[in-house]
Amino acid sequence: MISRPEILDKLFQVLRSLPSVGPKMSERIAFYLLNSSEEQIKDFLGTVQKAYENVRPCSICGYWDDRSPCRICQDSSRDKTLLCVVETPQDLVAMSRIRNFEGYYHVLGGALSPLDGIGPQDLRIIPLMKRLETGEFKEIVLALNPDTEGETTVHYLIKQIQALYEKLKAENPEKSLEIKMTRLAQGLPAGGELEYMDEITLMRAFNGRRSLEPLES
Ligand SMILES: [Zn+2]
Repeated sequence: MISRPEILDKLFQVLRSLPSVGPKMSERIAFYLLNSSEEQIKDFLGTVQKAYENVRPCSICGYWDDRSPCRICQDSSRDKTLLCVVETPQDLVAMSRIRNFEGYYHVLGGALSPLDGIGPQDLRIIPLMKRLETGEFKEIVLALNPDTEGETTVHYLIKQIQALYEKLKAENPEKSLEIKMTRLAQGLPAGGELEYMDEITLMRAFNGRRSLEPLES
C-alpha cells in the first residue's frame, strides 16, 4: 500500500459518495480533476455551486428549475387534461424525450418502499392530490418503474385517486368528473429503470399504455 496525502483520500471518498461511482471511477475522476487547468477547475466548481444555489424543485411538479413554477408548468401550450406521474426528475427527462407526450408532469420523489421505511408522507403525494382536486385532468399516466416499489406505489395511488374522485363527484354532482388512469405498456424490462430506457422502448410503452381497472376498496 502506497502512502498518500490525506486530502487525496478525502477526495476519493467524496467522489465515491456520488451515485454509481465506485472506487476505480472515483480515482479516475480525482486524477482527471487534478490534471485540469486552474480555469477548468474554477469553472467546474463555480458551476456546481451556482446550480446548487439557484436550482430548486418546482413548487407544483417537483422538477428542478431556476424558477418556480418551472418552465414546464408555465408552458400553457401543453395539454391541461393530461398528467404524467414519475418517480424522479431523471424519469421526467426520459419521458420528455418521447415527443408525443404533451401533457404536464408530477415528480413523486421516489416510490413507496416499506422495507426502506419510505411511506406516503416521504413522497410528493399530497401535492399531487391537490393538483387533481381541480378535476381538470382527464388522464393520469402512472409512469412508474416496473419493479416492486413502482407496483406498490401504483396500487396506492389508484386507491387515493379513486377516493379523491368519489369525494369530488359527491361534492360536485353537476360536473362530469371522470378520470382515466393508465400505465405504461408491458414490454419494459421488469425491474428496469425508466431513466436508462431508450426513446423507442419508452415511446412504444407510452403509445401502448393501458387503462387501469378500478380497485375494490
Ligand atoms: Zn413544475
